Amino acid sequence: MRAAVVTDFHAPLQIQDLPVPEPGPGQVLVRIEATGLCHTDIHAAHGDWPITPTPPFIPGHEGIGRIEKLGDGVSSRAVGDRVAIAWLAYACGECRHCIGGWETLCARQQTSGYSIDGTFAEYTVVAAAFATPVPDAICALEAAPLTCAGVTTYKAIKVARVAPAETVAIFGIGGLGHLALQYARIAGGFVIGVDITEEKLAMATELGADHVVNAHAGDPVAAIQALGGVDVAVALAASPEAFDQAYRSLRPGGRLVCVAMPADNAAISLPIFDTVIGGKSVIGSIVGTRNDLADVFALHAAGRTSVVTVGRKLDEVNDSIADVLAGRVPARVVFEL
Ligand SMILES: [Zn+2]
Ligand SMILES: [Zn+2]
Repeated sequence: MRAAVVTDFHAPLQIQDLPVPEPGPGQVLVRIEATGLCHTDIHAAHGDWPITPTPPFIPGHEGIGRIEKLGDGVSSRAVGDRVAIAWLAYACGECRHCIGGWETLCARQQTSGYSIDGTFAEYTVVAAAFATPVPDAICALEAAPLTCAGVTTYKAIKVARVAPAETVAIFGIGGLGHLALQYARIAGGFVIGVDITEEKLAMATELGADHVVNAHAGDPVAAIQALGGVDVAVALAASPEAFDQAYRSLRPGGRLVCVAMPADNAAISLPIFDTVIGGKSVIGSIVGTRNDLADVFALHAAGRTSVVTVGRKLDEVNDSIADVLAGRVPARVVFEL
């Protein structure tokens, strides 16, 4: 099978011909049809974070395909089932986080394209229970971005407890941001889209943002505070500066939701006095559970969200990474296999 492989954190990915993996007990083999390029894949390929994957490995965690083979003991899935393979590829199901509905915090979790091989390949294996069903109404090209960008931003809006008529700023309108702003609207919020390119701000307006702010053209904090500030700011741009701006855009009672993860374990400094006096919260939000992903698919199948994609071939993986880093693609690159 063809796969895009990270062999070294300082080298481009290689397209290699590898053996098709065998599903182990409790696993399924999935023939991948489409898989999105997430910023996390780029951080993985570059070894950017405090915990790194171990090369050689196959990135990818927005994989959509059909099950071709069942491992021993699998009864919950069938050959031919259409499934999504997300970041959370396994959780123990037994620890207090798993039992409490927070499988994404499980210490024994496996992650696609990071701790185990991912979906930038014609085939991959995954635990059957983590091959999440995809409704037939959703095409593979649109299902792929929903599998990480969608579920991650849906969860961010959920943990922020956005209430109707609250105002939400989305910092970073791209693969994640264009979906985040739609979930904020579904929750009943007014939305301010913040980005540094006019093309992405135009997309935000088209998708229903009430205001847009160009953070390159002027101080976005001043612009947002002039609009009255926001109840919730979702930080999706992988730049510490954007996190700082997002925090300073909050009204009293505001919540900053941290989602992007800038390289090198970057930090922001919080003014304690303002945080206490203003009753502000800072929340970390990591992807979403299988239930969250099912919600995301249900909303899309019902026509409540739009997904903006750019289709590419897997051979174009390195050019695609360069395009994402340079801000040259409006939303999500999806490789069609
Ligand atoms: Zn992702
Ligand atoms: Zn667990």
